[in-house]
Amino acid sequence: MHFMPADGFRERTEATVSNPHLRKSFRGAMDFLMAKRKAQFPDPEALENLRTLGEAIRRYSLSRLPELLVQLEANLTKNGVKVHWAETPEEAQRIIVGIAAGAQAKLVVKGKSMVSEEIELNHALEAAGIGALESDMGEYIVQLAGERPSHIIMPAIHKTKEEIARLFAERIPGVDYTDSVDELIQIGRRVLREKFRETTVGLSGVNVAVAETGTLCLVENEGNGRMCTSVPDIHVAITGIEKIVEKLEHVPPLLTLLTRSATGQAVTTYFNWISGPRRDGELDGPREVHLVLLDNGRSRAYADERFRATLQCIRCGACMNHCPVYTRIGGLAYGTTYPGPIGKIISPHLLGLEATHSLVTASSLCGACGEVCPVRIPIPQLLIELRNQSQNDPAASHDAHPLAGAGAGRKPMPAFAMRAWGFLHARPALYRLFSFALTRLRGVLPRKQGAWTESRAPLRPAARSLHELLRDKT
Ligand code: SF4
Repeated sequence: MHFMPADGFRERTEATVSNPHLRKSFRGAMDFLMAKRKAQFPDPEALENLRTLGEAIRRYSLSRLPELLVQLEANLTKNGVKVHWAETPEEAQRIIVGIAAGAQAKLVVKGKSMVSEEIELNHALEAAGIGALESDMGEYIVQLAGERPSHIIMPAIHKTKEEIARLFAERIPGVDYTDSVDELIQIGRRVLREKFRETTVGLSGVNVAVAETGTLCLVENEGNGRMCTSVPDIHVAITGIEKIVEKLEHVPPLLTLLTRSATGQAVTTYFNWISGPRRDGELDGPREVHLVLLDNGRSRAYADERFRATLQCIRCGACMNHCPVYTRIGGLAYGTTYPGPIGKIISPHLLGLEATHSLVTASSLCGACGEVCPVRIPIPQLLIELRNQSQNDPAASHDAHPLAGAGAGRKPMPAFAMRAWGFLHARPALYRLFSFALTRLRGVLPRKQGAWTESRAPLRPAARSLHELLRDKT
């Protein structure tokens, strides 16, 4: 059965907003992240200059995406990396399961990778009898809890330290309850370190792939990414086809925008440049490196000028931290791999509008997401375009490239009301006559029409026009 995040969205949202404890801890975490980001950009002019540069790099890279992908494959192959192309999540699953099964791996240890979440890799590995273990601390916590990540940078941000302490005591053999954060981290590290020794396959995401050198860049804070990419004999990296730049010199501006926008850090603790398997004479590193390049709807977004900017994203999560909807309902309510504003603009391309039309309406369009996006993705405008697509009548639409599921959010009554409104609005005289009639009618309606109007007094038609009142005053 196809997964439908739109199903149950309202119920999941209600469950979060009616949980004051969850809202408080979530709001506190988001306020903390916003303050950290702000402290990293003290000079507004310098920030805008950096955003201009970041936007230009991402737009330039996307403008040359097909040829850069060909160049990347050629240079990676020259470096000894095996490149695989996957059009769908199922294809990506088959490739990775095939690599792990071919190596007779019993366990794949994973670094943080949202694309591996997107393809539901853990389920596919488990179905093939291969274990999957998350080694990023946040991902490890949500895996233990049997949940999805609620944030793309901090997957377990919805959990308090007491909840994590209980989880560790219940799920990790021999561990006693402790709510000391240092001790909890040490416990996690001890468990994970052992697993790195046992496995032959490590998996990671990719933050940026550099076409001219065939280099995979990976940003992380815990060192688990470096372990996944260097300890096991085989390293499998997976990324979306859009995470590419042409030159090495394009990486530093994106890197500084990413770390400062994501976690409020000037630099990350670890920055990994992966340029191939272990060479003769080298003492460590994997013997095989694979890269899986996933499409999953991205090339459709790329082909449509209205939506191409969606692919500029560098997955910093700043739009989520500043979104008044996300900060109240949390990431789990969305039901998608990518929650918050970035989730609302990317998920319709990955899953279609039939599955995601409710999500594109979950925005106040306040514009905060667009204002903080380090690569200036016009998120509010993209949301409006997606709303149009979800409301369009597919039978009457002249759209040459409608999104999958276009029209799924359309309901007969609102569609009729909006058509009637459009008809009137295009005819000023008729519109004025209609408005005049409505203001007169309003006076004969009952004062109370339900809970919403209980505290409000209905507007009464003015005895004299505004024009008359102003004229008498002067
Ligand atoms: S849309 Fe912009 S702010 Fe949001 S995750 Fe992507 S790059 Fe960051």
